[in-house]
Order: sequence, then C-alpha cells, then structure tokens
Amino acid sequence: MTNVVVLIKHVPDYAADWELSADDFTLDRAAVDGIIDEINERAVEAALQITEANGGEVTILCAGPAQATDAIRKALSMGADKAIHIQDDAVHGSDAIQTAYLLATALGTIEGVELVIAGNESSDGRAGAVPAMIAEYLDLPHLTHLRKLEVSGDTLTGERETDDGIFTVEAALPAIVSVNEKINEPRFPSFKGIMAAKKKTPEVLTVAELGIEDGVVGVANSASTVTAVTPKPPRAAGERITDEGDGGVKVVEYLAGQKII
Ligand SMILES: Cc1cc2nc3c(=O)[nH]c(=O)nc-3n(C[C@H](O)[C@H](O)[C@H](O)COP(=O)(O)OP(=O)(O)OC[C@H]3O[C@@H](n4cnc5c(N)ncnc54)[C@H](O)[C@@H]3O)c2cc1C
Repeated sequence: MTNVVVLIKHVPDYAADWELSADDFTLDRAAVDGIIDEINERAVEAALQITEANGGEVTILCAGPAQATDAIRKALSMGADKAIHIQDDAVHGSDAIQTAYLLATALGTIEGVELVIAGNESSDGRAGAVPAMIAEYLDLPHLTHLRKLEVSGDTLTGERETDDGIFTVEAALPAIVSVNEKINEPRFPSFKGIMAAKKKTPEVLTVAELGIEDGVVGVANSASTVTAVTPKPPRAAGERITDEGDGGVKVVEYLAGQKII
C-alpha cells in the first residue's frame, strides 16, 4: 500500500500574456488564465503508475487561488483519488521558502504519506528549490531530477541523467522526489475519469486551518523579493547562408564565431 501525494502548481497558461505587478513583481494568479504545470501532469502520471502497480491512493496538494481548482480537476480526471487545495489570499507573493513551509505543513496533516512527487522546477517561478526545502522541513530523503522512478517494498529507486551518464539512486520510503520531463508521457483524462472527477470535491484549507500563524507566509513576510523584471528581447532573425560551394565552411565559421565549436 503506497500513499502518494503529488504537488501540483497552477501556473499561467503558456499561451496567455501575463505580467507581474509593477509594485512588487508578484503575479496576480487570479487574473490570468491558468493551467496545471506540465511537469506536474508528469508527476501525477508517475504517481498513478506507482499506485496501479503497488496499490494505494494518490492525493493532490496544491497551493493556489480559486482558479487553481481547474488544475486540480485535471489531476483528478487523470485518476488521482482526492485533493487538498490551500486557498488563502494570505499566501499571495510567498517566496520559495514560505511555499515549502506551507506545503510541508499541509503534508503533515495527511495520514500515511509514503511518497511525495513534485516537478523539478515550475514553469513560472523556476526556483527549483521547493521539493528540497520540503525534504529539509520534514526530514525526508530527497531524490532530485528523476527521469525514472520505481517503488519496490519500502525502497524507492530512480535514475538521474547528467552530461556524464545515468546515475541510479535509491532511498527508503517515506521520501520526496522531483521528476523531470523525461519521466513519462502523461495520460489524457478518459471520459470516465472526467465524470468521476466531478464527484471528487477537493478539501479547501486556509493558512489558519493549517495552524500557521499570521505573519509567516505572504509577500509582506517573505525573506526574498523580486526587485526587477526585464522581458527578454524578441528573437533576432536568423542568419541565412547561401551555399555557393563553400556552405560547409561558412557554417563552421559561423559556429566558431558564436563559440559553439
Ligand atoms: C518571476 C518570478 C521570480 C521569482 N523568483 C523567486 C526567487 O528568486 N526566490 C524565491 O524564493 N521565490 C521566487 N519567486 C516566487 C516563487 O515562484 C514562489 O515561491 C513559488 O510559490 C514557489 O517557487 P517555484 O514555483 O519557483 O518552485 P519550484 O521549486 O520551481 O517548484 C518545483 C515544484 O514544487 C511544487 N510546487 C511549487 N509551488 C507549488 C504550489 N504553490 N503548490 C503545489 N506545489 C507547488 C511543484 O511540484 C513544482 O513543480 C518568484 C516568482 C516569480 C513569478
């Protein structure tokens, strides 16, 4: 029996235009169309594969605005059993440490958690730090950036790829892992799954209900702040090389000029 919790983040739709507040550079998540972060769909898929093989259930945990219900619903329609939604304006603008503390506190309220699966980094904040911080708060082993993940008995085995090769890593459960985009291809919700998800009501919790005191989370209490945001310049047009018999040489010269070779 394996009880797996998947951390999912509600992020701005990749196709949507969104801006950060000019005052404090936080994102008004309620004002922008949001989706479940793609890496978190893969985390849900990994959890479903593990519980399908080993038994147990999958719980979704998300801290986000009311609109994050759609992201949670997607995870439930993929097949997750239940969900907890931390929904509280007090969370707005929390930095990675505060977010990790919040999620770690919520994880502490879920009975029998044996495995927590997160994405390796979110597509908006990209701190890539929340799962490691949760591991520290909860004193759990942490396997990062996994491209493969298996559970056998009380042992978790994973693979991490680097430029040098593939490392096989292992930890005892309970543990927390982060997965990368190579972990799997997430399933599409089936019609049956979509209908079943409609009957699953996420448990909604506030910061106070988690026992977290005033003055701990939120932009006013965060230890780090974003102080400037500079949009990337639009992509410059590419350089066209006409092959007049010396195309190969010109390509090599170009790559050398860019310090690519
Ligand atoms: C432009 C920008 C820059 C930022 N820079 C910083 C910074 O430098 N330092 C800093 O501390 N904060 C920063 N933040 C805030 C940061 O995005 C938030 O703290 C965020 O809630 C957590 O960080 P992350 O998404 O980057 O986490 P990551 O560590 O990248 O997320 C990894 C995984 O953790 C899980 N997770 C993360 N957030 C949630 C959530 N709300 N609910 C459920 N699971 C979750 C998901 O599984 C996710 O895939 C920035 C935000 C923005 C918009």
